[in-house]
Amino acid sequence: MEKVRCLIIGSGPAGYTSAIYTSRASVHPVLYEGIQPGGQLTTTTLVENYPGFEHGVDANVLMTQMKAQAKSFGADVRSGFIESIDLSGRPFHAVDSNGNELEAESVIIATGATARYLGLPSEEKFKGLGVSACATCDGFFYRGKVVAVVGGGDSACEEATYLAGLCKKVYMIVRRDVFRASKAMQERVFNTPNIEILWNCNTQEVLGDMSGVTGARLVRNSGEIFDIQIDGFFLGIGHHPNSELVSKWVSTDSDGYILTEGKSSRTNVEGVFAAGDVQDRNYRQAITAAASGCMAALEVERFLNSQK
Ligand code: NDP
Repeated sequence: MEKVRCLIIGSGPAGYTSAIYTSRASVHPVLYEGIQPGGQLTTTTLVENYPGFEHGVDANVLMTQMKAQAKSFGADVRSGFIESIDLSGRPFHAVDSNGNELEAESVIIATGATARYLGLPSEEKFKGLGVSACATCDGFFYRGKVVAVVGGGDSACEEATYLAGLCKKVYMIVRRDVFRASKAMQERVFNTPNIEILWNCNTQEVLGDMSGVTGARLVRNSGEIFDIQIDGFFLGIGHHPNSELVSKWVSTDSDGYILTEGKSSRTNVEGVFAAGDVQDRNYRQAITAAASGCMAALEVERFLNSQK
């Protein structure tokens, strides 16, 4: 059985940052990339809000660089994923996707979150070509254009008001005749003149051509079908934290986000830490995920030293 001091699960900014810090501290971490190497960021194109890049950086380049940086300090980065893990007692017992067994003294869970999509084939076809689940990441590309945001919760309202500051017009496609969002968020939307709310509407199809998204075909709850002309189609229907692997042992909130103690990355299981979007429902940025990966690494180091 292979013995590791720190097992890092996930390869987004949180996972790689924790690998950089723990490997520099001679913890010799083992990181499993998971089923989406590079994490959620790799579903976007240009990242313009990660500090240090005057002209932005391609998301895949950024993640490749993070991986190379972690490896340069000796992190053992492995493709594949952790199939199962038992956190009932230390050392923790894990099995990877090749059937290899590991014993880990500490674990950093950096499995991220997955944006929810509607599941339409046309939506899949135009992902990265006008379909996006991140207004903060991609909104800038739609300056002066017309976009739509699907959803009626806080995320959708926040995305719509953010986009309204950049775009000529923002449609909100809301499936009921009320918002789920907080009153304050609703007010913000109602007070933004270039947001038009399409109540009682669902998306039947995202329309487009070689250049990308050109519109959306909507259906009202009454059955009426109509098209809108848009350049971008944003999803704001929530995220799903990827915590199933550990939720038997690690406490989560009712939506599955891992709960951490105070401002730390400590979970309720001693020796198990969580970083990045799997424990963050609010900020969900590459930079905040990286920062929490750093916190987890420092806490792992302290934890391992306290066990000597
Ligand atoms: P929510 O689950 O709160 O809202 C999801 C929205 O998407 C709802 O309006 C829902 O409609 C709609 N929706 C879901 N599935 C579909 C679908 N298939 N088709 C069309 N519409 C759909 O998710 P959020 O991400 O908005 O928020 C998650 C949590 O994070 C909340 O607790 C929220 O308060 C919090 N948050 C807080 C923020 C802040 O305070 N600044 C910012 C962002 C999030 P329906 O209402 O009909 O179910």
